[in-house]
Amino acid sequence: MSEVFNVEEIFGQNVFTLGKMKERLPKNVYKEVVKVMDQGGELSMEAANVVAMAMKEWAVENGATHYTHWFQPLTGITAEKHDSFVAHPDEMGKMLTEFSGKELIKGEPDASSFPSGGLRATFEARGYTAWDITSPAFLKESGCGVTLCIPTAFCSYTGEALDKKTPLLRSMEALSEQALRIVRLFGNTEATKVTASVGPEQEYFLVDEKLYRQRTDLMFAGRTLFGAPAPKGQEMEDHYFGVIRERVGAYMKDLNEELWKLGVTAKTQHNEVAPAQHELAPIYETANIAVDHNQLVMEAMKRVAVHHGMRCLLHEKPYAGVNGSGKHNNWSITTDNGVNLLDPGDTPNENIQFLLVLACILKAVDTHADLLRQSASDVGNDHRLGANEAPPAVISVFLGEQLEDVVRQLIETGAATSVKEGGKLLTGVKTLPDFQKDATDRNRTSPFAFTGNKFEFRMVGSADSIASPNTTLNAIVAEAFCEAADRLEKADDLDLAVHDLIKEYLTEHQRIIFNGDGYSDEWLAEAERRGLPNIKSMIEAASTITTDKAVKLFERFGIFTKVELESREEIIYETYAKTINIEALAMIDMAGKQIIPAVVKYSRALADTVNTVKAAGADTSVQAELLKEVCENLAAMQAALAKLKKVEAEASAIEDVKKQAFFYKDTVKAVMDELRAPADRLEMIVDKDIWPIPTYGELMFEI
Ligand code: ADP
Ligand code: MG
Repeated sequence: MSEVFNVEEIFGQNVFTLGKMKERLPKNVYKEVVKVMDQGGELSMEAANVVAMAMKEWAVENGATHYTHWFQPLTGITAEKHDSFVAHPDEMGKMLTEFSGKELIKGEPDASSFPSGGLRATFEARGYTAWDITSPAFLKESGCGVTLCIPTAFCSYTGEALDKKTPLLRSMEALSEQALRIVRLFGNTEATKVTASVGPEQEYFLVDEKLYRQRTDLMFAGRTLFGAPAPKGQEMEDHYFGVIRERVGAYMKDLNEELWKLGVTAKTQHNEVAPAQHELAPIYETANIAVDHNQLVMEAMKRVAVHHGMRCLLHEKPYAGVNGSGKHNNWSITTDNGVNLLDPGDTPNENIQFLLVLACILKAVDTHADLLRQSASDVGNDHRLGANEAPPAVISVFLGEQLEDVVRQLIETGAATSVKEGGKLLTGVKTLPDFQKDATDRNRTSPFAFTGNKFEFRMVGSADSIASPNTTLNAIVAEAFCEAADRLEKADDLDLAVHDLIKEYLTEHQRIIFNGDGYSDEWLAEAERRGLPNIKSMIEAASTITTDKAVKLFERFGIFTKVELESREEIIYETYAKTINIEALAMIDMAGKQIIPAVVKYSRALADTVNTVKAAGADTSVQAELLKEVCENLAAMQAALAKLKKVEAEASAIEDVKKQAFFYKDTVKAVMDELRAPADRLEMIVDKDIWPIPTYGELMFEI
């Protein structure tokens, strides 16, 4: 038996939790911290000094030598710059560690090397990090030893957000404020805050490290750029929920342990659809913490894999031809007196507050379908959305049979008098219990599905931060709540006004509801008839964030300024162009240095064989035919390689980032496909011993 650990004991071991603060801080300071956490405002410098001292003591007791402001720049991953606790020694040569309140609360990393999308041209390069007191500090154990990490927001000198956390926090405040207005209308005077909760289901692939290192594409682009299908893929449907292999199980065990220590509630683990694909889901929590924790999950997944001689691939599409990875973002909104606004109860038809919330969400999603789609865009996700394995690129809402029926009644008659019951599921076996069925089955093909007491936004990519999707969701729903509250607060007859409003919103926005198969071609045609946007790629979605509609929305709630949005649009183009550029260069490298030389070697061996066989006076037709096929594909590869080099150089020379990104998408990617096709055909012909890179079969099944 391997080492045993007690989950209760290790959970949160590496987190400076509220419990630890209560234990270690004087009462008045602890109270001040809790107040700022709940109600906002700033910690006094005296209190900050006391907190910093206690935090440092705890960190040093647990082996920490360094601290860092941990932040989330627009690279989509996290950043950290470590400072040790080492201070100037006294005259006797004794060193006393130091960490002040000022160091806890503020940092000044140089912002000039992070994506800023033009903000840098106008403003100073200096960046500031500010402690996000709502997300607890934690200890990270890595090759560097133990580091105290302080979650922070990252802004420019003039206050523009340079990160993903700042707008998210702003959006949470906006949602809370507007949602409170809604619950007040229904007589809830107790609630003081409404919080968005998020549970992200993280999918990932594992690959053997030795094989990974032999693949330039995996190392540099995180996905395979060449590779013929393996004899077996996912068609037997034997991997999903299958028995977890020993090596993968040992990995999951260590991963869970590390995450629990970090206070991440890793809950569910299972094999996913594709070979070597898996999933981990934590228990949902406050959006802001869920975003931080999801970053920790992704980091830990990568780090722990290395300890097990593996690599973790978070890319949305590591392998062509099998399922890619996503991250279902489960989202709900709850008041601080415990009411989930998305809980319909047993009789949703009578739950007017729920119906109003639902109507507002449908309006929000319909009005800003373009923004929601954009929020789930990243380069890798372009391979998934609309590719018949993930949601289509068209946003629609799945409500399920029960709610759809309620909505239909409301639209038709202005009142919903009945509700469909789930009924009993009979197992037909005396020794098994019968089940009370949910009134609604699941629909796996919808991008935005109502699942009982939450919405599941299924478009998000596995490698992406979940900050943007949640910022957008919070923002668009805050706007719908605000507009509803503006009208209802003025109404003379509230009941009547609420009914009218629900009916009006549902009628106006019913086109966004779709309960059928989101993967079907008929749906795409139908969606077009309904006028729903179908934005096919990340860069086509980019400009949705700077439309008048978007700027009005985000500025109104102080979530983004126009300048911030413009800079973010630019970063999207930059990121896209850079990513495809790396992929193109990796292909050029592999084709030129590995695949073509190997094929040349093989063709020489074949040619030699033809000569030997001919000299022996035997029939050479088989060898000659093979040689011909090899040579044809080799020629196609060589031609595509030359073309790729040419277009890649052309792309690099384009100055306008938007034009450049579109050139990469429309021209460079097409040539990449031209290069891949003959290479994949050759892989099926060339002697396995000569083929220079591990095959799909090896990558996905040798684990
Ligand atoms: P699935 O069956 O959809 O794969 P999982 O158990 O893998 O479900 O993941 C569901 C996720 O939704 C979990 O992270 C769970 O904590 C989260 N979740 C459950 N209820 C809520 C809620 N009310 N709000 C937000 N997230 C929720
Ligand atoms: Mg799941």
